[in-house]
Amino acid sequence: MPSLASQPSTHSAPQRRTDDLRTIRAKVERGERLSLSDGERLFATPDIWSVCELAALVRNRLHGAPHQNGVAHYNINRHLNYSNVCALSCKFCEFYRKKDDDGAYTRDMDYVREEVRKAVESGATEMHSVGGLHPYLPWDYYTELVATIRDTARSLGSDLHVKAFTAVEIVHLAKIAKVYRADDRTAGIRWVLERLKQAGLGSLPGGGAEVFDDRVHDEAFKGKIRSDVWLDVHRVAHELGLNTNATILYGHIEQRRERLVHMDMLRRAQDEALARLGYTGVKSDDGDQPAITLTRPGTPLPEHIAFGPNGLDNPAAGYFQTIIPLPFFPDGSDLEHLPGPTGLENLRTLAIARLMLDNFPHVKAFWIMQTLPMAQLMLQNGADDIDGTVVWYDITKLASRADDAATHQEVSIASLVKAIRDAGFEPVERDTLYRPVIRDGTRWHVQSPVPTPS
Ligand code: SF4
Repeated sequence: MPSLASQPSTHSAPQRRTDDLRTIRAKVERGERLSLSDGERLFATPDIWSVCELAALVRNRLHGAPHQNGVAHYNINRHLNYSNVCALSCKFCEFYRKKDDDGAYTRDMDYVREEVRKAVESGATEMHSVGGLHPYLPWDYYTELVATIRDTARSLGSDLHVKAFTAVEIVHLAKIAKVYRADDRTAGIRWVLERLKQAGLGSLPGGGAEVFDDRVHDEAFKGKIRSDVWLDVHRVAHELGLNTNATILYGHIEQRRERLVHMDMLRRAQDEALARLGYTGVKSDDGDQPAITLTRPGTPLPEHIAFGPNGLDNPAAGYFQTIIPLPFFPDGSDLEHLPGPTGLENLRTLAIARLMLDNFPHVKAFWIMQTLPMAQLMLQNGADDIDGTVVWYDITKLASRADDAATHQEVSIASLVKAIRDAGFEPVERDTLYRPVIRDGTRWHVQSPVPTPS
């Protein structure tokens, strides 16, 4: 594998570059962990082109360079929001309804079976299911939901991966099941995750993280779990062999420094997960635990060591797969007076996430929230995944209209593949766990992940 320094740049704006990122560049080229103050410089510099170039160097090391066998991932999935009834009223949320509000819904199992049928008929490999914190649904509803997705798909000759429930929902379920104890919260979390896994849960999505800061938490989403509990849920999931994702919802009342602290907390949690998988790290300047990076030359990605030769074995220990930076959209929320982040801020935040989260194998440009053209640009500046052919996404959306057109977010596979190819990358359909999907129409199977040739 060539060194980062020898890889050709995809950028050409030398007159706009400055020298103040030289030490950061040297660290990136060696695959060393960046400090929080490095991150602050990346946010502060007017030289956004160099920030993007550095993020592209890392992305290209992990997943290949454009026009040189570099790959970008997409998947075929379907979203099922089982209920929008929520006990909380987070300020940035336009999704939730109270039980008797117009537009409140809770799906029954007939509805779920019909959604599974549509997913299987469209060739989906994944059902992504989340909802509000419903105050009245019993615990059994959730295990039945997961088992219904799994069993209906199997009865139709498919094997939909169930990615469901944010950390916030998992804690809510522990309370509904009356197993959550403040003095030993991981016991209740473990109880819930073990039973959901038994019912067919395959992984956890990354939502509900928002920004790991108590001030921001108390001002914008008080009542939701704090960062320590969110990280507990993901740690227990990893211990049980469940992979998870992570998000950061930025561009509202947080400071850029708080975004960096959020990223640092995530990468420390990932250090622990990767250590369980057998990775070893190096002591960092400001860290109290060995920093495990995936950005040093020759380091395998977790999916290259977690699965057996047939690609079917589940990892013995789970880990974070993907960081998904999510820009805040003010329309329709209680923070409507805020401007929200600009396109350049979105690009810079994603590039910095790629640089700071040196032990996350994947960075997703979630096209639903970034737009497909911006996701394409992000593929060249840090991202290696643009998510999939999502149908029905109404958690946070670009438009705040109440009609179906605002929530029916869908692109064809051909559009995703074209967007990736136009960005210079080879499109790779992945399943939820980043195993390549071999497809014949709506029939599919997975292969073992193999390192990208470089
Ligand atoms: S963000 Fe989640 S927890 Fe908060 S109000 Fe919306 S659905 Fe409920």
